[in-house]
Amino acid sequence: MSGVSTIAYLVAGVLFIRSLGGLSKQETAGLGNVYGMAGMMLAVGVTAAIWVGEDGSVRGLGFALLAVSITIGGAIGAVLARRVEMTGMPELVAVLHSFVGLAAVLVGISSYLSPHADPTGALVPGEDAAGFVAAESEAAAARIVHVVEIWIGVAVGALTFTGSVIAWGKLRGSISGKPLLLPGRHLINAAIAIAIVALAVPFARAASPDDGLVFLVVQTLLASALGVHLVMAIGGADMPVVVSLLNSYSGWAAAAAGFVLANDLLIVTGALVGASGTILSIIMCRAMNRSILNVVFGGFGTADGAAAASPAAAQGEVVEIKTDALAAQLRESKRVVIVPGYGMAVARAQNAVHDFMRALRERGVDVRFAIHPVAGRLPGHMNVLLAEAGVPYDVVLEMEEINHDFPSTDVVLVIGANDIVNPGALDDPSSPIYGMPVLEVWKAKTVVVLKRGMAAGYAGVENPLFFLGNTRMLFGDARKSMEALVSALRN
Ligand code: NDP
Repeated sequence: MSGVSTIAYLVAGVLFIRSLGGLSKQETAGLGNVYGMAGMMLAVGVTAAIWVGEDGSVRGLGFALLAVSITIGGAIGAVLARRVEMTGMPELVAVLHSFVGLAAVLVGISSYLSPHADPTGALVPGEDAAGFVAAESEAAAARIVHVVEIWIGVAVGALTFTGSVIAWGKLRGSISGKPLLLPGRHLINAAIAIAIVALAVPFARAASPDDGLVFLVVQTLLASALGVHLVMAIGGADMPVVVSLLNSYSGWAAAAAGFVLANDLLIVTGALVGASGTILSIIMCRAMNRSILNVVFGGFGTADGAAAASPAAAQGEVVEIKTDALAAQLRESKRVVIVPGYGMAVARAQNAVHDFMRALRERGVDVRFAIHPVAGRLPGHMNVLLAEAGVPYDVVLEMEEINHDFPSTDVVLVIGANDIVNPGALDDPSSPIYGMPVLEVWKAKTVVVLKRGMAAGYAGVENPLFFLGNTRMLFGDARKSMEALVSALRN
C-alpha cells in the first residue's frame, strides 16, 4: 500500500501544481479548479484507504470517524458554497483560513500527547555499545526535531486562527476597520515573539508530555494573542494584503502539520499555498505601494496611540445627472471606460453592465473595463464577476494598462467604486490610503459615478472626485441604474 500511496500522493502534488498554474489566467481558471478538485479527491481517497485492509475490509473506529467527518464537513462545505453571495466570499475565505490554523493547533497538540507519535519509539538501539550510543543519539535528535515541528506548527496555527477570526470580523464589519494602535505595540509584539521562542527550550527538555503540555498551552495562548494584536493593528485599506497574508500563513500552518504527521503531500500542498500566498501578498503590496513589513507589523510609521489623521473633509457641491441625459451623452461618445467596484458586487449589476457594454458596442462605441488590483473585497473579485457575466477578457484591462488612456476617454462610468478612484490617494498625505496608486478617472472628459448616496468606501475616507467640475453623480442602486440606462440607450 505504501508504494501505491506514495505514487498517488505524487500525482496529487502534480495536480495541485497544475491547478495553481491554471488559476493564474482567467481563460484556464476553470481547468485549474478541476485539477485542484481531482488532486484533493485523490488525496482524501488515498488517506481513507489507509483504513482499508488488503482483503477490502475496513478497520474499525479510524475509518468510521473519517467517513463521518468527511460526510458532515463535505455537506456543510457544499451548502455554504452554494449559499454564499459573491459579496460574502472574503469572509468565507477568512473563516476557511481560520479552520486550517485551528487544525494545525489540534494536530500539533494531539501528536504531542499521542504515545504512537513519539519518534523515539521508531528507533531501536543497536546491540553493541557503539551502535547503542549512535542509535540513542539519533533517537534523541529525532525527538528534538519532532517537538520543534510541533512547536512551530502550533505557533503558526494559533496565530493564523485568531488572525483570521479578527480578519473575518473586520471584513463583515462587526469589528471596526480602524487600526488599533496600542502604545508600544511593536514592543508588545517583540516581547510575545521572544517569549514564544524562549518557552521552546523548557518544552523540548520536558521529561514527559504531561510536563511539556503546560508550555505548549501557554505558547498557544501567546501566539493567539499575537494573531489578534497583529491583525487589529491593520487598517481597513490594508485588508487585501492581510487576506492574502493569512492565506499564506494557513499554507505554512498546513505544511507544519504535514511535518508533524510525516505526511509528504500535506507538506507539499502547504508549501504551495504558503509560497503562492506570499507571492500574492508581495504583488498586492506593490499594487498598493506598501511595504510588506509595514503591513505585517501594522501601522509602522504611524504615531503610537493614535490612528492615522483623518483627511480633510471634501468640500463643495455635487452635480447630479439623470439617466436620459447620460444616455444622450453616451450616444455621442467614442471611447467609454467602465470602472467596477465593490458596489457592483453588492448590487449584482454585472449582467446589466454586460448588456450596457453590448448596447454601446452595437452603436460603434469603444468600451473597455479598468480593473484596480484591490477593487471589491477579494483579489480578482471584479474579474470573476465580469467573466461570470460573459464580458470578453480582451476588453478587461489592468490599472497600469489603462491609466494613461483616461485623457483620451470621453466618459468614464464608475460603478460602485470609491477608494480605488480617490485622487486623495495621490495628493493628500493625511489620507490613510495616501501612496496607493489609483485609477486616474478624473483625467477623462466626463466621469459619472453610480452609487446610492454619499457614503464613504471601505477605507472610510471622503472622496474629492465627487466634487470635481467634470464629475456627475447618478444616484441609485447600480443594477437599477444600469438597467434604466440600457433601456434608454436602446430606445
Ligand atoms: P469601496 O468599498 O471603496 O466603495 C464601494 C462603494 O460602492 C461605496 O462607496 C458605496 O457607496 C457603493 N455601493 C454599495 N452598494 C451599492 C449599490 N447597491 N449600488 C451602487 N453603489 C453601491 O470599493 P472599491 O472597490 O472602490 O475599493 C475596495 C476597497 O476594499 C479598498 O479600500 C480595498 O483596500 C478594500 N479591500 C479590498 C480587498 C480585496 O482583496 N480586493 C479585501 C479587503 C478590503 P453607497 O453606499 O453610497 O452606495
